[in-house]
Amino acid sequence: MLEKIQKELLKTKTTLVAVSKTKPTSSIQAMYDKGQRIFGENRVQELAEKYEKLPKDIQWHAIGHLQRNKVKFIAPFVSMIHSVDSSRLLEEINKRAMENKRVINCLLQFHIAEEASKFGWQSVEEVLEFLNSPSFTKMNNIQIQGVMGMATFTNDTEQVRSEFKRLKAYFEDLKISYFADNHEFKEISMGMSGDYQLAIEEGSTMVRIGSLLFGKR
Ligand SMILES: *Cc1c(COP(=O)(O)O)cnc(C)c1O
Repeated sequence: MLEKIQKELLKTKTTLVAVSKTKPTSSIQAMYDKGQRIFGENRVQELAEKYEKLPKDIQWHAIGHLQRNKVKFIAPFVSMIHSVDSSRLLEEINKRAMENKRVINCLLQFHIAEEASKFGWQSVEEVLEFLNSPSFTKMNNIQIQGVMGMATFTNDTEQVRSEFKRLKAYFEDLKISYFADNHEFKEISMGMSGDYQLAIEEGSTMVRIGSLLFGKR
């Protein structure tokens, strides 16, 4: 399955984040041995434990809701945080990155789904207000590389498609109004096992695929 997905993604230059949450290190090692280097986890403790046990050239992506008091556990090594949903979280990431003398790549998670339970920024205006505030200008240890979103869990593909379109539009809007000269602002993290092909059609640059690769959780 990995080879098949990798081939599909190669055509569209989409990055694969292999979502290994709940899976044992042996399964991750097996996928690493086939060449996969980017893995995504949604729980901090699990992420830190797997980082300790597995090869050090793995790029670990934190993809799930992140509590501020847990940032310190992953700040020394995490390669990207997809789920930045508040200014206070970003401040904490910046602080911990500074302590570790690192720059941590971040994505701004937008709320695009119908479900009330999913986290994220609600509008571009809200994000711009923060980006233009003095507190953001002082954050030198984070690099905002793009946006992330999760579509509604539904079989209605038109709804999912329209949510992906919305995220893409948010990305373009931010690109024009704030990140025009910033070539690092380039990622749209959207698409999971059930909807990644749709996401790619709608402009995803990074898909987060778990169960399709590793089997059911
Ligand atoms: C679990 C998870 C995924 C992967 O889901 P699958 O349906 O198993 O592909 C993607 N993104 C986030 C944020 C997740 O928590």
